[in-house]
Amino acid sequence: TGSIGAAAVALTASACASEDSGSNGGSGGGGKVGIAMPTKTSERWIFDGDNLKTSFEDAGYTVSLQYANDEPDKQVSQIETMVGQGVDVLVVAAIDNKSLGGVLAQAKEQEITVIAYDRLILDTPDVDYYVSFDNTKVGTLQGTYIVEALDLENAEGPFNLELFAGALTDNNTKYFFDGAWAVLEPYVTEGKLVIRSGQTSLEQIATENWDGSIAQERMDNILSNSYKGDNKVDVVLAPYDGISRGIVAALQSSGYEKMPVITGQDAEVESVKYIIEGLQSMTVYKDTRALASTTVDMVLASIDGGEVEVNDTETYDNGDHVVPANLLDPVSVDVNNYQEEVVDSGYIDEADLA
Ligand code: BGC
Repeated sequence: TGSIGAAAVALTASACASEDSGSNGGSGGGGKVGIAMPTKTSERWIFDGDNLKTSFEDAGYTVSLQYANDEPDKQVSQIETMVGQGVDVLVVAAIDNKSLGGVLAQAKEQEITVIAYDRLILDTPDVDYYVSFDNTKVGTLQGTYIVEALDLENAEGPFNLELFAGALTDNNTKYFFDGAWAVLEPYVTEGKLVIRSGQTSLEQIATENWDGSIAQERMDNILSNSYKGDNKVDVVLAPYDGISRGIVAALQSSGYEKMPVITGQDAEVESVKYIIEGLQSMTVYKDTRALASTTVDMVLASIDGGEVEVNDTETYDNGDHVVPANLLDPVSVDVNNYQEEVVDSGYIDEADLA
C-alpha cells in the first residue's frame, strides 16, 4: 500500500481521535495538537512554540501550547491535561527524557501520535517519530571551528581548553559533546590542547538545566583554581549560547579583556551581538522555522496514512526501539556569515542587533 507500519498506526489513531471529538479528521481538518515546550528562559523555545503554533493553525489544527519552566513534573502534568483534552497529536520537547513514559502510555491508550521534538524521549515504546537537527553534527561544527580558529594543524600550542556540556537530563547533551570531542580529542592526546581543570567527564562538565548562571559559577571556580598566575584560557567548548554568555561573564569579572575562542548554539540575538562585538566566536544556527514546518509535514503525512519522511532509522535508539528520525542540517555561524545566514534569511531582525 506504500504506507509504512507506523503511518498506518497513526492513521487509525487520527481516525479514532477525530471521531471522539466529533471533528472531520483528514489532513488537519479540525484536529487538535498539544505542544509541550521546556522553558521560556531560552529564546529558541519561544520561536519553536510560536512557529509550531502558527504552522499547525495554518494546517487547520487547534493548538494547546504549554511551557513547563524546566520542571519535569510540571511538564508531565501539562501533557496529562492535553491527553485529557483529547488531542490527536503530541509534540514534546522533553525536559527530563526519562520522566515521560507514564504519561505517554496514557497517550498511546488513546492512540495519540507522539512526536519527540528536538530532544529524544527515552525508555518508552510510545514515541512514533523524532524530529530534530543532526545533533552530532552540531558538536562536529563546534569542534571543527575550534580546530580552525586556533589553526591546530599547524600551530604548536599548547592551548588551554575548558569543556562545558548541557543538561544530563537532555538526550542531546551527549550527542553534542561526543561530536565535538571526536574532533578535539586527538589534539588533547597530542598535547596541543590542555585541559588545566582536569574536568573532562560528562558528569563534571554538564550544566544543570542548561543554566548560564550555573556555567558562570563553574567557570569562576575553574578560573580561580586552575588559572593562577599567567595561565590564560585560550578556548572554551560551550554547547549553547546561554552557557557561552555565562562563561563570558566569568571571564570578564576575572579581568579578561580579549576573549578566548568560545563556541555556542542557537543563534540567540544576544549571542549574535556578542559575536559582532568579539565576545563569543561562533554559534550553531538551527532554523526552528524549518523544524516546525517539518514537524507539521510529518504529522500531516502520518495522519493521511502517507509515508512520513525520515532520513535516519539507525541513530536514535531510545532504549526501547530505534525511533525513525528526520534530522535537519545545522549551520556554523560566525562574524563572517551571520548576516547572510541569520539576518538575510529573516531569522533575526537586523534592528534587534543594533
Ligand atoms: C537543544 C539546543 C538548546 C538546548 C538548551 C537542546 O536540547 O537542542 O538547541 O540549546 O537544548 O535549550
